Order: sequence, then structure tokens, then C-alpha cells
Amino acid sequence: MKFNPAQNIQNLQFFGEFGGVNPSIEDSSTYTFLKAEKMEEVFEKEIEGCYLYSRHWNPTNRYLSEAMAKMENTEAATVTASGMAAITCTLLQLCGAGDEIIASRMVYGGTYTFLKNVAPRFGIRVKFVDITRLDKIEKAITAHTKVIYCESVSNPLLEVSDIRGISSIAKKHHIKLVVDNTFTPMIISPANLGADVVVHSLTKYINGTSDTVAGAICASHEFIHQLSDVHHGMTMLLGPVMDSMRSASVLKNLHSLHIRMKQHSRNASLLAERLTGLGIDVRYPGLNKHPQHELMKQMMNDGFGFGGMLVINVGTKKKAYTLMEKMQRANIGYLAVSLGFYKTLFSSPGSSTSSEIPEEERELMGLSDGLIRVSVGLDEQIDSTFYRWTKCLKESGILEAELT
Ligand SMILES: *Cc1c(COP(=O)(O)O)cnc(C)c1O
Repeated sequence: MKFNPAQNIQNLQFFGEFGGVNPSIEDSSTYTFLKAEKMEEVFEKEIEGCYLYSRHWNPTNRYLSEAMAKMENTEAATVTASGMAAITCTLLQLCGAGDEIIASRMVYGGTYTFLKNVAPRFGIRVKFVDITRLDKIEKAITAHTKVIYCESVSNPLLEVSDIRGISSIAKKHHIKLVVDNTFTPMIISPANLGADVVVHSLTKYINGTSDTVAGAICASHEFIHQLSDVHHGMTMLLGPVMDSMRSASVLKNLHSLHIRMKQHSRNASLLAERLTGLGIDVRYPGLNKHPQHELMKQMMNDGFGFGGMLVINVGTKKKAYTLMEKMQRANIGYLAVSLGFYKTLFSSPGSSTSSEIPEEERELMGLSDGLIRVSVGLDEQIDSTFYRWTKCLKESGILEAELT
């Protein structure tokens, strides 16, 4: 049968402690042992069903981790208190002083800043490349390269990474490929395309209610064990443990992710086409004119669409600000960073989430001041949203008033 991330999650069967339909929430930081020797043993190696201390592992986080592994089709997974924790723990587990990372120049602002400012403090060298150019990636490889890092669909310009192509380069040189799949859960399954580690900010689509910050790392049993190792593991020792209460609530939201992704994609696709029809400069991987449209089609799972993120360019920062304020007043959504919420969210990446990237570099990437990144919501009546959006575009002087 064809791989289906949504069905894989649906197939999970967890019983609560008293037969509840949801797994019980284990609300404890520490765990008892009947035998003292057993405690000693758990310090040495993980024993299934045996818990020591919540920062190491706790049963509630296990449930969510198991569901994440099912979704990403990896052997195992672990969850963290934020997406940034998932990313930084992964990279610090894989790299140390003297090692090199090849990273896409177009990544989430926080990731970019970590790679640029923090990784070098640990002696890790980072080379930023245009991830759509396989030749440039291969050229950047040296004997010290340990990791290639990219996003399936990048923030904020929605470039699509050729995960199969990058993975074959990585495998040839015995390098690990780490992919951030935050923008395209369900839609793209990086591990099926050759990624070694898949990281997520659960804060976005997976949780979907903008009420918590959380992350996940999906990979082999071996790598997940390394992360929680008492002596050398980054999630164990840097300590970004997710709270059990949150973990339980994210798991419940994960069960409706596939339905939400379909609706986000349906709405974004409709808006992208209609706005393009008005002459607006729209970037959306589902549009024929998107440079990696065909590539995306070859990589995506069936039935979840091209995602809920689109970017428009209205020319100047002033116009972008005016439009966003009008859109919020028209209740199209909120002027806010982040994504994957049930209401539409929009922000201007150049001056917010990607402002950490120096101006000259932003220009090189095509990350101009007039961009608005839109995370399209779950609107049931998207025609009405489009109508109100058109009105805002006219009132901001971006569209001629006589156009309808
Ligand atoms: C938000 C985001 C992150 C960081 O996640 P947090 O949960 O905010 O720590 C990383 N990568 C991408 C693509 C994101 O959108």
C-alpha cells in the first residue's frame, strides 16, 4: 500500500491508564523503582517502559514522538520544547569543533542566526549556499562536512529543495542530510526521499492553534538514542524537554492535521490563482510559474495539496504595511508572525522573521521589502475572503480602483 502519513497516525491505538480513549498524561518529573539495581541499569541503557526522570524521557512525550515517527516514516522520534531546540540539538549532536555544515542560505531567521553567530562559537564552520543548485552544494563539500541542512519548502520565499538530489550527494560523501519540514507536514515526507533527520516546529501547522511552542526530531533509533544519552545527548543535557500537558494537547491536534492541511492548501491555491489573475506578483509552489512547481509535484504525497503558505510582492515596504493593516481591519486575518493557525496570519518577512539576515544578503536572495508572507487560514468561504482582499488591495493603491 502507498505510504500515507495521515493513515499511519490514524492507525495508532493508545489506551489511557483506565481505558481512556486518549493516552493518560503522566504528570511527574521523576519515577519510582521497586529495585535499586534497576535504577542503576536505566542510567546505563534505556529499558523499554522504564522511566527515570522526565527530562530524559516521559511516557506522554513518547506517545507524541511515536505519532511523529509514524507521520514522517522514521524509525523513531523525540519531541522538544521548541522548533529551535529540535534544530540546535540535532546540529550540535551531529557536529563539533572542526566540522562543517552546508546550509541553505534561505532558512528560518532563527536557524540562520544560530548558524551564523552561534555555531562558529563551538568551532563549527557554516557555508551558506543556493539550495536549488546541486552543483554548488557538491562544490562546497570538504573532508570536514558533516551535515547538509535545508527546509523542504523554505521560509520565506517558498523555494523547494530537491531532497532526493541533495540526499544522493550527501550519501555519496557520507554526510547527514537534515531537513526542516515545518512548512509541509503530510505534504512532503523527507525521510522517504532520503533525509536522515527531519526536524519540525510543532508550533505551526502540527499544533495548529497558535497556543504553544514545540518541536520534534524524527530519525533512526540510533540517532534518537544518541540525543537522549545520559552522557552525551543534547536533548538530555541541554534540557529542552516538552511539558507533558502540552505534549498531550499537541498529540490531539495532530490527529486532525491532514484535514487542516487539505483546507489550508485548497484556500491558498485558490487565492494564489485569483490574485495572480489580478496581476499581483504571487509566489506559491502550486502555481505553474513557480520555478520548482514540477519538482514539488514529484516529491509530494497525494491529496494534501501544495500547502497553505503564499508570498506576495507589493513593491514597497510602505505599501506592504498599509495593506497588512487594512487586511487586519477587514478581518482577513491577523498581522502576526508564525503560521499554520486557523485564521490567516501575515507579516512582512524582510522586517520581521528574516530581519536577522543582513540587508545585502536579503537583496541577493530576492527577499525584498515589499514582500508579505501569508499563512492562509481555514476559511470556509474563501471567495468572500478574496473579495475583501481585493478591496484592501484597491484601497492601498496596489490595484487600480476600476479593476474588479
Ligand atoms: C518557526 C520555525 C522554526 C522555529 O520553531 P519554534 O517552534 O518557533 O522554535 C524553525 N523552522 C521553521 C521553518 C519555522 O517556521
